[in-house]
Amino acid sequence: MGTLAQQTAGWVTLAGAGPGDAELITLRLARRLAEADVILTDRLVNADIIHQHASPGAEVIVSGKKGYSSLSMQQSEICELMITHAFAGKKVVRLKGGDVAIFSNVLDELEALTANQIPFDIIPGITAASAASAYTGIPLTARGISQGVQFLSFHASNFYSSEKWKSLASTNDTLVFYMSARKVTDLAELLLRYTRKPDTPIAVVEQASTIHQRFFESTLRNCAAEFAGIEFCSPSLVIIGDVVSLHKQFNWFKPTVSEGSVFVEL
Ligand code: SAH
Repeated sequence: MGTLAQQTAGWVTLAGAGPGDAELITLRLARRLAEADVILTDRLVNADIIHQHASPGAEVIVSGKKGYSSLSMQQSEICELMITHAFAGKKVVRLKGGDVAIFSNVLDELEALTANQIPFDIIPGITAASAASAYTGIPLTARGISQGVQFLSFHASNFYSSEKWKSLASTNDTLVFYMSARKVTDLAELLLRYTRKPDTPIAVVEQASTIHQRFFESTLRNCAAEFAGIEFCSPSLVIIGDVVSLHKQFNWFKPTVSEGSVFVEL
């Protein structure tokens, strides 16, 4: 990969910007942002992170999904932007919400970078599940309650087989569903159909780790009635499993503002 790196001093950093709270980023990301010429950011990134750490001369480009709507920029365009700027000798930071590699299109970006022999590095970020867990006092695994955790998604782009649903309904692992809050009652129904126990607790956490966080709790059996009429905002996460009951005991976080979002358009 030496030749191109020597020709251009271009470089791409693929970085996770954490779940929302602007302080939940790594020191390395802060340094890379300060050095960046171009920042290509998804929308599920707290804009304060860029305001606080980017150099004033950096070019900031917003890409990626907005809430539940369709892609505002095609993945191919994002890859092309990354590559064009790196070829022009720029230091590019590609910012993604949460962790870079969980329910993201990082594979396309990695393939584009390697195909074009562009030097890159990857900085991990705190994924939404970890943030929702910490900021609601729900350990995702807990001795005697849950021996494992699975990160999943119940979304048109990600279908699971009936075998998979059977195994999800029979495990005592905690299940964390990304991109699924709007279909939470369908999800509960499916797990019940494959016989997960009806009084299994289920929670939805909106905007985890931010001042706007909201928490909703029910059970697989009751959530259709109890969540009826609630329109969960984006981003929201679904947590299913007995660990959810620990929230009552260990919740410490007091969100301060009920309306609004930190995921602002820059
Ligand atoms: N790479 C991201 C996930 C991208 S998929 C990560 O590691 O967190 C987008 C989904 O992540 C959203 O639909 C939502 O389910 C979840 N999500 C991201 N940030 C969140 C937050 N602050 N609170 C709750 N869910 C969040």
